[in-house]
Amino acid sequence: MGHRIGLQIAAVWVLCCTLQFSGQGQTPRDTGITVIHAGRLFDSERGLFVTNRDIVIKNNRVDAVGEDLAVPTGAREIDLRGLSILPGLIDVHVHLLYLEDVVKGSFSEGVNAVVKEGTPLRALHGAARARTFLSAGITTVRDLGNSGQFGDIALRDAINDGSLDGPRMLVSGPGLSPEGGQFPGLQQKHKAIAEEEYRIVRGPEDAALAVRENVIYGANLIKIYSNNTPNRAYLSLAEMQSIVEEAKMLGVKVAAHATNNAAVWRAAQAGVSSIEHGYQVEDSTLSLMKQRGVVFVPTDVDSATISALMERAPAEEKPPEGWIQQYLNRSRNRLQRALKAGVTIAAGSDMYVKTGRTQGEAAKRVLFAYADAGMPPLQILQAATWNAAELLGAKNRLGVIKAGAFADIIAVDGNPDLDIHAIEKVRFVMKDGTIYVGKK
Ligand SMILES: [Zn+2]
Repeated sequence: MGHRIGLQIAAVWVLCCTLQFSGQGQTPRDTGITVIHAGRLFDSERGLFVTNRDIVIKNNRVDAVGEDLAVPTGAREIDLRGLSILPGLIDVHVHLLYLEDVVKGSFSEGVNAVVKEGTPLRALHGAARARTFLSAGITTVRDLGNSGQFGDIALRDAINDGSLDGPRMLVSGPGLSPEGGQFPGLQQKHKAIAEEEYRIVRGPEDAALAVRENVIYGANLIKIYSNNTPNRAYLSLAEMQSIVEEAKMLGVKVAAHATNNAAVWRAAQAGVSSIEHGYQVEDSTLSLMKQRGVVFVPTDVDSATISALMERAPAEEKPPEGWIQQYLNRSRNRLQRALKAGVTIAAGSDMYVKTGRTQGEAAKRVLFAYADAGMPPLQILQAATWNAAELLGAKNRLGVIKAGAFADIIAVDGNPDLDIHAIEKVRFVMKDGTIYVGKK
């Protein structure tokens, strides 16, 4: 998670296919050949829409994309000519096992998740939320901790084996954090609460060990906290370098929570793959990110959601007059500077608060936040498809509709290139060749 939205604002990875038929699937897997007739298709690689394409799908893969392709005998045909077709969306920053009530506040909600809810129940709650991502057209997520003791791995595996409907999940296991995790004001004698939710790192050797543990017990990537807001500690540069080196050895990437400029700079220096949040990043640090190929994941909140959340915040936590506009201006300014610096943007919501919408629908609204900040729709769509897939180490396999890619395809009503809000109107969702929303 970030930290109180209200207050401040080549992975070694088996993509699919493990034990797919062992579970009692909620939705039976579709097999055989399907042809989708597309009127408008988003070419995520080039960042534009093309027209009149046929997509041939064999089992769970795209076999061919082209104009007026012959329909193979026995193929199921689906006419989506009236809609806009896109690759399944990707959200690279989620917490399916954590959802907090802003009225109760992040400290008590965080403690509650650890000491009362517990990992098994959190995983079951996550299962229900996972389905809402799929319905929203988000077919892949990168889950970055706050999952108790490896609850994220259980959820991923249950989706992969067909027991649950949900997006593809890449998961981090417990995030590697400096002392205290993200629990401000925890008494020292209760530090075990932080250790249940985070892997507290104490020195470079311990940092490498933590990477080994997470990978051995099933993580697809490593999440670190360069700084652990709302606490005020930092991982040392030596700890982060040790983490990156070990992760490289094991073939996994490192995502860094980093809010202020120093935290971003240090994580980028250490060689992480992505910076999450970066609320106060400065231009010189953006240049460093560009130079080192570090992807930026701006976990911003759209204007409608932030206003609704502030309405519900308790009186003592309500921001001063004009704060929302300041927040939006700061986000806009920072995103514009990142784009100008040429930093790659991948879409990530960090939507861990209750908004009245499903978690999946709420998460998708991060794309509206980017639009609020003046990012052009086609670039936003690329951030949620092509760029995100590249960050996941799944270039040409996810986030794109082309031969050889996994058949993750959605269709929306309207033209999202003209108005990004069209992506709210999801009419069709296929993941891994199976249709979950829309006509059979
Ligand atoms: Zn987060």
